[in-house]
Formats: sequence, structure tokens, C-alpha cells
Amino acid sequence: MKNCHLCKADYEEVKQRLSMRQVAEYYGCRVNRRGTCLCPFHTDNHPSLKIYENDKGYYCFTCGNGGDVIKFVGRLFHLRNEEACRKLIEDFALPIAFKDLSYREMRERGRKDAKYRELKRFKAEAYRVLKKYWMLLCDASRDPASPHFEEALRELSIIEYRLGCIREWPEEYRADREAVRKLGEIERRIAGWDE
Ligand SMILES: [Zn+2]
Repeated sequence: MKNCHLCKADYEEVKQRLSMRQVAEYYGCRVNRRGTCLCPFHTDNHPSLKIYENDKGYYCFTCGNGGDVIKFVGRLFHLRNEEACRKLIEDFALPIAFKDLSYREMRERGRKDAKYRELKRFKAEAYRVLKKYWMLLCDASRDPASPHFEEALRELSIIEYRLGCIREWPEEYRADREAVRKLGEIERRIAGWDE
């Protein structure tokens, strides 16, 4: 039986499972309808801490503190990131095992971490390819004499859409075979750009 360190995937999972508002309220902040509350990090007479929707975290307009749920708890209880993350897992009874793990659970965690890192690599690589193509298209769209002018007009908005997808939903993008095939096509397209 072993205790283990939290991995990146755990941080992501905690952030995904808990909303900023839920966490702030759990630790005693009374969030009003405008999504603000008294800042717990100093004496605050007017609600100056803003809780952002869509789990974009929090920001205090008085003291300038901001961050995500983990930062919030870390600051509130004077904990380092990993301790704050463990506290959230325990306080909210999240199904993320990190204590007294059996070897099988350790292995399971290892797999989860590897999967996370693999996805991160895919995301970075896909982003790099799309961004490169996007820049080539941008240049071409400014020059009607360019042999790629029409292609640029046709493809620019599509590539911008794809960049948004890879940023927001890398996992779904990875699972979409057609999208991955298209990525390979774009890579070859870039390689033959000047021919
Ligand atoms: Zn503040």
C-alpha cells in the first residue's frame, strides 16, 4: 500500500469536477446573483471577488488575487498546490484515489497519467500544425496575386474553427478520425506549400 503524488491529470480532474462557485460557497463565501462575494483574503466591505462562470476561476478587483479552485483553497488555507488539491479531493469526496493504493491502483494511475501526457502531446502538435497553416493562409489572403489566395479565402475560417476545437476539446478532436486524417493532410499541404 502506497501513497502517491498527484499527477497533472488529477489537477485537471479536480478542476473539471468542481465549479469555482461551488468551492467558494463550500468554504463560506456567499456568492450573490451577480457572481461576486466578499473577498476572504482581506477585510472587504463590498463584494469585490468575482466568480467567473464556465469555471474560469476567480479574481478580486481589490487585492488582485486570482486563479482557479486549487489556487483559491491554497491561498485560503495556506497550502501548497498539491496539498490544496488533496484537500479538495477529500472535502468533496471526489473519486480520485491517492492514498493507500494497491499495486493495481498504482498501475491504473500510471496509465491515466500516461494517457494525459499523450493527449497533451497530441494537442501541442496539432496546434502547431494548424497554427502554421493558418499563418501561411493569412499571408496568402493579403495577396490576391498569390497562388494560394483562393485557398486562403476558402480555408481560413475553417482552420480558425479547428484551432478553437483543439483548444477547447482536445480529447474529442483526438477521437475524431476524420479530424485526425485532415490534420495529416494539412501537414503534407504545408510541406508542399512552395512547390
Ligand atoms: Zn481581495
